[in-house]
Parts: sequence; structure tokens; C-alpha cells
Amino acid sequence: MEILRGFKDTLPTDMEKWHRLEKAAKEILESFGFKEIRTPILEKTSLFARGVGEATDIVEKEMYTFFDKSNESVTMRPEGTAGVVRSYIDNHLENLPYKKFYYIGPMFRYERPQKGRLRQFNQIGVEVFGIENPSIDAELVYMDKMMLEKLGIEDLRIEINNIGCRKCRPEYMNELKSYFKKHEESLCEDCRRRLDKNPLRILDCKNKECKAVANKAPKITQFACTDCKDHYNKVKERLQSLDIKFTENPHLVRGLDYYTKFVFEIITDKLGAQGTVSAGGRYDGLVEELGGKDTPGIGFASGCERLVELLKTKEEKLFDYYIANLNSDEYALDIAKQLIKTTKKRVYVEYEKRSLKSMMKKAGKINVSYVVIIGENEKNNNKVILKNMDNSTQNEYDLKTFLDNEVKRWL
Ligand SMILES: [Zn+2]
Ligand SMILES: [Zn+2]
Repeated sequence: MEILRGFKDTLPTDMEKWHRLEKAAKEILESFGFKEIRTPILEKTSLFARGVGEATDIVEKEMYTFFDKSNESVTMRPEGTAGVVRSYIDNHLENLPYKKFYYIGPMFRYERPQKGRLRQFNQIGVEVFGIENPSIDAELVYMDKMMLEKLGIEDLRIEINNIGCRKCRPEYMNELKSYFKKHEESLCEDCRRRLDKNPLRILDCKNKECKAVANKAPKITQFACTDCKDHYNKVKERLQSLDIKFTENPHLVRGLDYYTKFVFEIITDKLGAQGTVSAGGRYDGLVEELGGKDTPGIGFASGCERLVELLKTKEEKLFDYYIANLNSDEYALDIAKQLIKTTKKRVYVEYEKRSLKSMMKKAGKINVSYVVIIGENEKNNNKVILKNMDNSTQNEYDLKTFLDNEVKRWL
């Protein structure tokens, strides 16, 4: 049997990096007062159609959508924000004394599989509700950067943009539309299709000719209302006072319809062309769009696969003890039980019938700190032989002394 195209197993050999990523992320996010939320993978299709936007690539062609057995159209979440917003409204989370949430989990998009792009991928994301103050925008950028730095990810660049709000964007969109209409023949097929519904997306098309046209397109700065400009300028001030370096990129628009005012991306040049490791922005209209009260919102998300790819490999012991069990199963299991209970360390018991030589070879291969050798002789005399794999010394102990020593070793 083969795995589905665009899907990937996360094997035990990769797991150390995943655990390190999740641990570091949770530590940083919780230290900023964020609380975890878990929403379902499957939601009503209409949630994403309304929440992500009908005219986005995601909704138009990338969703895993099907009818369930009661003929309801359901979709496997292609991103995390819509579900958290739905949950916020459904569960009246506005009544909680805190409104900063984070999630970690799998998302699904039916994209053309290519290097570094999977159809099931994981995201770490945060959402904040009810805070209009531009300080929160700056806090999120700061926290995001701190999280990436804690993971040891280097050469980070931050790009920001103001993409207007519900008041001023329509006028800008019209202006953009008529500009791109004039240059329609130079645009790629995708962009021609986007022209009417989502001209903003043309600004970040990777196609060379589209880029040339986009470079001369009208800029939002000419159309942004005082409210947007004011908000954006304050975010910039806060970022500066936090000593965060950023560049302004007028073509940064993000792929989703719901963003307003402030958007940002954190990019590393370590991954080549596709270097965005984290991205987000404000979505002040989304809660209302999905049936809640008019509530400001802001968030960001990071692709975990990309972060894991950037993590440095750590030389790590797989286990603390390997019990080289030479035909003494019960004694071996008893020692393992006592070792785990008293030291709380990782103990691997060998039950395969092997020679001592082949067990020692295996112990070297799996990178273990100590080997406990027990054979007929040790079992009959209540003894063990302990080999320290780091300095190759080997000693015999009676069981009680051995256990006492091992407890002390890890204190
Ligand atoms: Zn505005
Ligand atoms: Zn294009």
C-alpha cells in the first residue's frame, strides 16, 4: 500500500525536532498570555467560503470538500483562523477574561505537490480578539520573531504593509481593477481570472510580466483612510520602540480575503525563494462576517514543516538505559520496572534473542548512555553489570547498590 500523494508520515526519527518545535512555541506563546484552543478538522463548507473568501485560490480549487452521509457539504480545514473565529462566536468566548488564543495542528489543501508543499501540513497560529490598540499588532510581530529566534532560525527579515480597511479598500480595488484591465494582455491566466474578483492578489503574483505590471500599479497608501493610516503609523512606532527592524512592502497582500489594515510576513533567506516562515495580520471584519458582533481581530500562522526543516539536528541519546537481556526475561523486566520507577529515565529492554556482542553493537547504534547486562549468573546472584557507554567502563553491582547509585546519578 502506498501513502496518498502529497501526504507524509512523520517518523519517530523526525519526532525530536517536532517535539522541540512544539515545546519552544508553546513556551513563548504562553509566556505572552496565550491559551491553547483546539477546533475540529471538519467544518461546514460555508464557514470557509465566507471566512476565507469565495475568490481565493484556497476556496476555488484547493479545499477537501465532500458530502457526508447526511448530505451536508463539509470541508477539512484549509487554515486555522475561520474555525477559531467560529468557536469564539459559538462558545461566547468574549466572556472569557482573556482573548488571546493559539492552536497547533494539521490543515488540508489540495495543491499540486512540490518540494516543501504538502496536502496535509501543520500550522502553529495565534488569534486575538477585541483589541483595536495597535500595540497588539506590534506585540504579535515581536512574539513571532522571538519564537522563531528561540528555535534557532536565523537571518529573519520582517515585511509589513497597510492593506486598507472595509471603508477605504473598495475604492482602491476599483482603481486597481481599472489599472489591471488596461494591462490585461500582459497578465498571466491566473491573474486575468483574479482581475474581477480579487485584483489585490495580482500584486503578489510570482510571474515576471505580472510583477512588472504590478510594480507600477496604484498603491494603497494613496487611498488609505485616516483611520487605517493612523493605525499603521502607530504600529510602526511601536515596532521601532521594540527595536524591531522591518521593511515596508506595498505588494504584500496575503492570500486571504479577510485581512485589514496591518499585515506582516517574517522571511528567512535560508530556504531559498519560498522563504516565508510566518505571516499574519488584522481581520477586523471577520467575526461579524461569520455572524458574531463587530469585533476586531488579529493573528498569524507559521508552517511547521518549514520550521522543522530549518531546525538544526541535535545529537541526542535515544534512551538512557538499554537492558542487554541474555535469557533472563523476568529479571530484566523487574529491573526495568524498578529503574523507571526510581529514576524516571527511558529504559529499553531487549527481548530478542541475541548474542552479547550483537546487543552491544545495537546499543552503540541506538546511542544509549548505559547498558545493563544481565545473564544467567547475574540473575541467580541478584547482580547486574553496568557499562557506561560514554567512557566504556564496566562494573558489577548487587541489585540494591545499583539502583541506589542510579537514583543518585540523576539528582
Ligand atoms: Zn481604511
Ligand atoms: Zn499573474
